[in-house]
Amino acid sequence: MFSYNSGMMTYTPTKYMDHTHPDAFVDHERMQPAYGCTVECPRCKGFGGWNLQLNAYGLPAGEADTPENRKKFVHFRAICGHCNGWGFVSPEETCQGHDWKWIKNVGNCLNRYECIHCKKTSDVDSSD
Ligand SMILES: [Zn+2]
Ligand SMILES: [Zn+2]
Repeated sequence: MFSYNSGMMTYTPTKYMDHTHPDAFVDHERMQPAYGCTVECPRCKGFGGWNLQLNAYGLPAGEADTPENRKKFVHFRAICGHCNGWGFVSPEETCQGHDWKWIKNVGNCLNRYECIHCKKTSDVDSSD
């Protein structure tokens, strides 16, 4: 049923890139350490996020074709789940990259996630 060479039936159903893809940080600029987060995020390498898909959208009329605008409007991007998009983490952070798993709904639109590696929890408001 499963063949490694059958191009049409690859294991991953998504066509999106991850943070290890050579084009993951095209048009991204590295961020600056802030608010005590001085250690470069091991996952996004200080970029705070990466491209899931290049040129996913057209540039809005009137916007200049600059790296900044391409990052903002044209590429479909992911925010890094380890540093929350900051690019840097606290020196006390020992986890090598959070992978969040939904645990439970904790009221209204608040959902609790737990990192499958370090067991840190995070409450995310999904109401917006
Ligand atoms: Zn990160
Ligand atoms: Zn973690």
